[in-house]
Amino acid sequence: MQKYLVRGVSPPILGPNIVAQRAKGLYVWDTEGREYIDITTGIGVCSLGHCHPAVTAAAQAQCAKVQHAQMNCMYHEPMLELIGRMKEKLHPSLDSFMFRSTGAEAVEDALKVARAATGKTNVICLQGGFHGRTFGTMSLTTSKNIYHRGLHPMLGGIHVVPFPFAQQMLVPLDTPPQEICAKALTHLEDVLHQATSPDDVGALIMEPTLGEGGYLACPKWYVEGVAKICKENNILLIFDEVQAGIGRTGTLFAYEQYSVVPDIMVFAKGIAGGFPLSGIVTKKELADKQLPGTMGGTYAGNAVACAAANAVLKAFDDEQILKNVSARSKQFYEGLQSIAQRNSAITELRGPGLMIGLHFKDSVPGQAKAVASQCMKNRLMILPCSKFEVLRFIPPLNITEKETSTVLEVFDKSLKELGGLSGERAVPLRSCCSTPCMKENTLCCRYY
Ligand code: PMP
Repeated sequence: MQKYLVRGVSPPILGPNIVAQRAKGLYVWDTEGREYIDITTGIGVCSLGHCHPAVTAAAQAQCAKVQHAQMNCMYHEPMLELIGRMKEKLHPSLDSFMFRSTGAEAVEDALKVARAATGKTNVICLQGGFHGRTFGTMSLTTSKNIYHRGLHPMLGGIHVVPFPFAQQMLVPLDTPPQEICAKALTHLEDVLHQATSPDDVGALIMEPTLGEGGYLACPKWYVEGVAKICKENNILLIFDEVQAGIGRTGTLFAYEQYSVVPDIMVFAKGIAGGFPLSGIVTKKELADKQLPGTMGGTYAGNAVACAAANAVLKAFDDEQILKNVSARSKQFYEGLQSIAQRNSAITELRGPGLMIGLHFKDSVPGQAKAVASQCMKNRLMILPCSKFEVLRFIPPLNITEKETSTVLEVFDKSLKELGGLSGERAVPLRSCCSTPCMKENTLCCRYY
């Protein structure tokens, strides 16, 4: 039946012959009975592993109560409970919620709020960002051209500025991060002087940790600089936390690691542990500029998905998930640092919490994919990302110490089978910190 799927989704990245039949925690079994270790978690969706018992039970119970109560027609209990739970954990200024099903829909809503609140249509986004596959969101997506190749024209009024990252900015790899951030901020100011007046720009959207674009934490100097420029010019700052949110970077939301609160934050993926739920949270004075009826969607904020999200957030407290993220991040860092000593083609280890990227030498194209396919031969599911040679580790946030050791062993074995990956490093191995970035629960700024 696979042949009846549109060509645009095929072939699956992990291989054409895997049909998932069952999954539990870190593991997936296919219809041939093969067992896989899954550190892709459905690209960061199954935040507490596959079929977490409390999430499953909450969804099952909700299925027998109310499955769907369309949000433009009536309220439902799980959504109201979810607002209460989230509000408690967010900065008090973030007090107006909208729920959706997919990340792209929620990004679209963020753009709508920004337009209505500022009366300005243009948007600035960061090069390397991924925001979705709808026309509005793919217009903001610059991680790879595959997402819009052959589909132009995109939405007008979008301007792209560099993400502060040495390879992207074509500066020497050992350029200090402050210097890179200063250059990137100058670039942004130039765009506002030369390409689009601040009078026309309603929003700047960015991922606080770049996902699809390469698993890079945005240094605080840039985030703070951007927030200042936005404030001075009445440009709303949108944080797309679709991939970085819900504990992935070590705090419930990545913005908590900066001295900045975005005007609009987008969340999705990990929030409902496997169910389709997304949303935005913004400030009442901005949301109030919208006319009633402009927001909505048939499946937006589905009751079963909201019940699952309540169970996810409860499990975060009950199971002290953030503590585990910190401990496992440290374990991954130590293990991967030791693997990198034996594989000099690994040039960088980076990313906060359990959003870890391993960068191989870019001068050997296809290396990251070759490693991923060797891992698949050893039944370890892992994904590459970005135009660079990067592999991403996105394990469940409740992965145990023993499971982490197993992942590291299989990864090491796969590299050994490839004969060890060597190559001259241009600069010594760069790692997020000498100690993992989540040690003090703060964002590491020394990731380059
Ligand atoms: N924003 C970010 C940061 C993402 O990583 C993604 C999905 N990978 C999206 C938006 C789009 O989400 P969806 O595929 O659910 O539309």
